[in-house]
This record gives sequence, structure tokens and C-alpha cells, in this order.
Amino acid sequence: MAESASRRHADDTSRSTAEFSGSDTVLELDGVTKEYGAETAVRDLSLSVREGELLTLLGPSGCGKTTTLRMLAGLERPTGGTIELDAQRVAGPDTFVAAEDREIGIVFQDFALFPHLSVAENVAFGLTDRDEDATAARVDEMLALVDMPEMGDRSVDQLSGGQQQRVAVARSLAPEPDILLLDEPFSNLDVRLRVEMREEVRRILKEAGVTAVSVTHDQEEALSISDRVAVLNDGCIEQVGDPEGVFEHPESRFVASFLGQAAFLSARVGSDTVDTAVGSYDRALLAGLTDGYQGAMVDVLVRPDDLRAAPVADATGAGNGTIVKRQYTGPSFIYHVELDNGDVVRCLHNHADNMAIGEPVAVSLVSDHALAWYPTE
Ligand code: ADP
Ligand code: MG
Repeated sequence: MAESASRRHADDTSRSTAEFSGSDTVLELDGVTKEYGAETAVRDLSLSVREGELLTLLGPSGCGKTTTLRMLAGLERPTGGTIELDAQRVAGPDTFVAAEDREIGIVFQDFALFPHLSVAENVAFGLTDRDEDATAARVDEMLALVDMPEMGDRSVDQLSGGQQQRVAVARSLAPEPDILLLDEPFSNLDVRLRVEMREEVRRILKEAGVTAVSVTHDQEEALSISDRVAVLNDGCIEQVGDPEGVFEHPESRFVASFLGQAAFLSARVGSDTVDTAVGSYDRALLAGLTDGYQGAMVDVLVRPDDLRAAPVADATGAGNGTIVKRQYTGPSFIYHVELDNGDVVRCLHNHADNMAIGEPVAVSLVSDHALAWYPTE
């Protein structure tokens, strides 16, 4: 009974597994650990990154994302485990290949462009082993890739934030690295530009065909740009999978809570039904439920779009909760409802559905898919 049934479910929904199966592993981490004195920043981390994929390490601040990226880059040495890049060991008990000897490109959070150099000079910076013509040709190719042709002579301080990011990506891709690392690449951009640039950076990386690892604490960014997402918690990987699989079938409460505005309905599993504070439902509601759970209490993952609240005056039958908070986002409201049994859930509504705090409501399930669940602790 230890394992959530959604684990089995997650395995057969993996878009990118199919897409990338059979392709080569570019980067392999095995048991990678980093201790700083008594503190373990990264613990026994194992992960394969496949050729051409964009994998994002996602987790809250302090979970070990930057430390992991710095170990991949060769800027930190692991205290345990091994890292292989293109089947060559670059870190291990007896091995450490320094950053400058790894074929790695890095896009830093602040872009780290050279302000006294032109756009073209920035892009050419890492192209040390080509002659003048080959360098110029490669710079032109990179500027075309990032949609900044004819802009090589500009000074970088004349560029917008989005253009600076394009130059930073072009510079790091120019020497044809085996792998590109991006640390919170969009965090210095304003919100509107962030959404535009994450699509644009994904396009550029896919067009270049480069293998990339990015890190972020922003779940929406991770889900929207990545082929696969690895969710980190306190130095450990909790789950790896394609965005839909991780979002729809979170294997742990942590992953469920970190992705989307998760809430949990406490439920009793009956012989035919699942009984919750918002009603009784067929057992098929719970993804992959097995007979062993009959009579057990479980927590069912519900996100705002799974639930709807109706004012009791309009509802057939009695209410089952009270609105305790409302979040207005412009197009929608998210109402927080405390149910009669004490569970607090969130319900997504159109902005026209105006209900007041303290209003009695009847919450019902409107989702048309099986829900993830966890044995009650
Ligand atoms: P993230 O990038 O996910 O926010 P970090 O990798 O920066 O997390 O940090 C993970 C943990 O390791 C944190 O608790 C941080 O305080 C600790 N840490 C990171 N770098 C060092 C260091 N150079 N010395 C000591 N502790 C560190
Ligand atoms: Mg960080």
C-alpha cells in the first residue's frame, strides 16, 4: 500500500519517452551528491539526459538546482557519485574535468554579456579555433538563428532585455557545445517578455538541435518549455517525466502540491464508491485504484478546474461548504471553500460568477478524468 497508484499510470503517458527512445544519452548522472560541511545540497541524484532534449530541473528555492547545474558545468566538484558527458567521465572519485575542458555552454541568469564588445564580438567570443572567415560565417549563422540578422555591429547596451537574451544564447551555442545549461534564464525579464522569450528560446534550442538542461522554480515555465521535467525537493529528485505526465500523475504529495494549485479531498474507499465531503463517486474516479484499498482513507488530488461551487440557493440539495477566500485573476476567480469536514479546496470560476466570502455553497466535482490520490498519512 506504500505506492500511489498514479505511479503506474505515469509510465504509459510519457510522450517524450517515445519521442526520444533509442536516442543516445548525452549526460548521465549516477548517485551525484554535494555536501557543504554538514549540509547536503544534492543527494544521490541519478538522471539521464538524451540527445536533443530539453530537460528542466524544477523545484523551490534552495532545493539544489544551481548546485546541480554547477556540477554539470564543472564549476563544483561532487562529493559523491559520477557524471558522464558523451560517455566520458567528467566527475567521479578519481576524475574531475574542469569547466574549460568540458564542451558545455552556459546561459547565465543575468546573461553576462561583455558590455564593451559588439553583438558580433560577444557571439564570436568562444570561437577561438576558427579562422576569421569561418568565425564570421558562424556568427552570421547564430545571429540568423536567434532572429537578429544584421545586428552584429550593435553595442550590447543598446539592446532590449529580450535581445540580450538572444545574444547570450547565440554566444553559448556558437562553439557547438555538447550540452547547453541555463540557470533561471528568464528571471531577469519582465512577465510579458518572459512568456514570449521562453517560447522563443525553446524554438532556438530545437532548431539548433542542442541538448539542454535548464533550471527554474517556475512551474509554468518548466511545463511549457520542457521535453521532460525533473522535480527536485530538498536535494532529491521526486519525479521525472514529460510535462503532462508529471502534472497529471504526480507520484508524491510534494510534486502534486508544487505543480498547480493542489488541494486534497479526504475520501473513504467503499466497495463500489468513494465517499468525500463533496459527494460519493464511482471508484473509477481514483486512477489505478486496487482492491487492497477497500475501507481505507485516501487523499484525492483536486485542482481548481476539477471543482465548481454553486451558491446554495441555486443548488439542488444542501450546501457542503463556505467560501473563505477569493482570488481575482482578471479572467477568473479562484474561490477557496472550506468544506463541512474541514478540507479546504479551490474552485475555478469565470469572472462573472460573483460569490461573497462567507457565502454557503455546494461544491461538486466537474473533472472528467480519473484523479491522482495518496494514502492518508
Ligand atoms: P537552488 O538553486 O535550488 O535555489 P542551491 O543549489 O543554490 O539551490 O542551494 C542548495 C542548498 O545548498 C541551499 O541550502 C544552499 O544554502 C546550499 N549551498 C549552496 N551553495 C553553497 C555553498 N557554496 N556553501 C554552502 N552551502 C551552499
Ligand atoms: Mg539557484
